[in-house]
Order: sequence, then structure tokens, then C-alpha cells
Amino acid sequence: MKEFKETRIGVLALQGDFERHCHQLGLLGVESAPVSLPGDLERIDGLIIPGGESTTMDHLIDRFDLRRPLLSYGRSRPIWGTCAGMIMLAGRVEDNQSGVEPLGLMDIDIVRTGYGRQVFSFEDTLRVDLGEGEIDLPATFIRAPRITRLGRTVSCLATYRGTPVLVSQRNLLASSFHTELEDDTRLLKYFLREFVLP
Ligand code: GLN
Repeated sequence: MKEFKETRIGVLALQGDFERHCHQLGLLGVESAPVSLPGDLERIDGLIIPGGESTTMDHLIDRFDLRRPLLSYGRSRPIWGTCAGMIMLAGRVEDNQSGVEPLGLMDIDIVRTGYGRQVFSFEDTLRVDLGEGEIDLPATFIRAPRITRLGRTVSCLATYRGTPVLVSQRNLLASSFHTELEDDTRLLKYFLREFVLP
């Protein structure tokens, strides 16, 4: 797609579902770049932190010396965190027996796996306006984080049964759910248009 020509998006590739994001980026003609080293962040226009397992991701972020580089990247550059990626962006993890240390870039609190365990994973459609009028966006919740507090400067873009599930703050976007499992690229396009290209 011409609109996104010469855009290069990094996908944190320590663990989790990064390949599906690379696939969707490819559908839009966007170059994707796996990020696993601090230097990888220097050559990208935006970053996706995928779903996966936040305890493992947290551990690997330190193991690969990525914590400080991610913090400084996220202060001004575009990041979209999905599912475990949202957990990593959060300010506080409420139910934190596992000791995940989130990056604290976004002013939200969450409960990990706040919609129930793997067997209670579900799909639904969300009513959301991604800039072209209200649409029904299919969303898959897999051991998804539940937002329990939104900071004053965080915007809620979509809710599921009254709970925010798609939120933004400055240069950051976070979703409790997955959209990359199918080929529906509308939320990815929204991230590129609203956060990366401006
Ligand atoms: N609940 C998982 C965690 O704590 C996240 C699940 C997901 O990313 N699909 O990491």
C-alpha cells in the first residue's frame, strides 16, 4: 500500500505472537523488523509489543538489556501493546503474585488474565470509531488483561461490557485483545495512521 511505503515497524520478538503482526504488516506493504536488541529500536518508525506471556517477556526484556531502551523509546515514539503488550505498558499490575515489572509508560492499572483463563477465551465484536465512522471490529480475548483504572489523560476508544479494552495516551496505544490472528488490518492501519505517520 502506497500510503505506508518506506514505513518500518518493529515487533518485539523476544517471545509470543510476533509473526502474525509481521504477516499483517506485510499485507499493508509495511516493512517489519524483529526487535530483540537495543540497537534494533534505532531503525524503526514504531513498535508493536505483541501478546504472549508477560512473565516471560518481562524476564527477557531484562535479559536482553532492553528495559532502559524501551523506556526511552516509549517516552516519545509510537508503541502499540496488545494483550501481554498492554500489560508491559501498564503503570501497575494489580494481581501481581508473579512479580511482572511493567514498563509503566501508560497511566493504567490492569489485572492480568482479568477475563478468565485460556478455556474462557472468546471472540466478540466491538463498536469502535477508528476515524471512518463506527465499525464492528472482531476482537479475540485470550487470557486478556482487564483494565481497572484509567488515568485522567488516557482516552478510551472502545469498551467491552463497560470496561475499556482499547485505550490511548499520547504516543501509546494499547488493546486487551488480539486482531492480528485474522487478516483484518483495520486496527493496525489505525495505529499506523494516527500514531506512526503524523
Ligand atoms: N495473560 C497473559 C499474561 O499475563 C497475556 C495473554 C496474551 O497475551 N494473550 O501474560
